[in-house]
Amino acid sequence: MTVHLEALLFGNAKYQSSEPVRLTFVLANPGDTDLYVLTWNTPFDYTQEEGLWSDCFQVTEGGKAVPYDGPLPKRGRPRVEDFLFLPAGRAGGLVINLDKTYPVTNPGMYRVSARLRAIPVFMAGSREELAELLEAGKPGMLSELISTLVEFRVDALPLQNRLFTIGEQVRQAEAAAAPFEEAVEIRFLGGSAGERDIVGDAHQTGFVLVQNAISRIDRDDLFREWFGAPSPGRLQAVRDNFGFIKAGMEQTSFIYDLTRSRCPASTIAHTFPGSSTIWICNPFFQLPRTGLDSQAGTIVHEHSHTSAGTSDVEGADDPDGARTLARTKPDQAVQSANNYEYYAGEAGAQA
Ligand SMILES: [Zn+2]
Repeated sequence: MTVHLEALLFGNAKYQSSEPVRLTFVLANPGDTDLYVLTWNTPFDYTQEEGLWSDCFQVTEGGKAVPYDGPLPKRGRPRVEDFLFLPAGRAGGLVINLDKTYPVTNPGMYRVSARLRAIPVFMAGSREELAELLEAGKPGMLSELISTLVEFRVDALPLQNRLFTIGEQVRQAEAAAAPFEEAVEIRFLGGSAGERDIVGDAHQTGFVLVQNAISRIDRDDLFREWFGAPSPGRLQAVRDNFGFIKAGMEQTSFIYDLTRSRCPASTIAHTFPGSSTIWICNPFFQLPRTGLDSQAGTIVHEHSHTSAGTSDVEGADDPDGARTLARTKPDQAVQSANNYEYYAGEAGAQA
């Protein structure tokens, strides 16, 4: 059974380059059943400070893709607060600042469409009922929807008024901070001594997992499980990316931020493309030390974002989803942070 939702996107025809690019996103439930819609990978997963929390829009300028430059979270299981309640026949909407996570403030002609393929939805009579369904591990139904497109022009204005994406702000702040005295140490912000020990151990263990993953790259069964058939191109991509992760961990002085300053519900950890800071959130400390979806695995996941430019590919949020991605869309699996995490977790455990 398929649930139909309707998405609408509105914006201005024109923005000045110093002006936030605000768009209105509306999601409607035209059916006759009340629905709870998972907000992950949709524009509803949004915070004032960081903007969007996923690459849920396809943005182009003059036909060229404009890359996502927002938070890359690893999440735990969905909780009730991760859902939007959409009663039958009703709609929900919000205003988003697109420029917080996509660099759309340079002059140009932009096209934006919502990248929403299948959103998990639950039919539940109340939040308590939804909580029971989640507790029982019931999968939601998948919604189908038609995405809409907006086009707008950004006009030239003096560059000193330029707005930067949140990723750019983070990288600029990191570049302006005092350099480390020792090149290859890790540092912590906030957190108790015990938490720092746990994260420091996960960092060291994650590094060992990466080394073991590299040494086992020719293991056919393991490669197939997480990255699909080992074509020369995919083998090279995975070898290169693990090499980037290893080099990043050896050469960059990472900061683990344990202050919980950017930690929406269900977020285990997150970072930004090209950043040298990794934010660790409460659910991280409930994970096992090693294995699939573990503390050490999360470290590999986050470093794959910062050093190898991987993404959080929709549908690959758990081991089953990541294995399915490897089987059905292997070229996406070699871009998926969770597939690196799980491969390393398994390769490391067998080493
Ligand atoms: Zn991620």
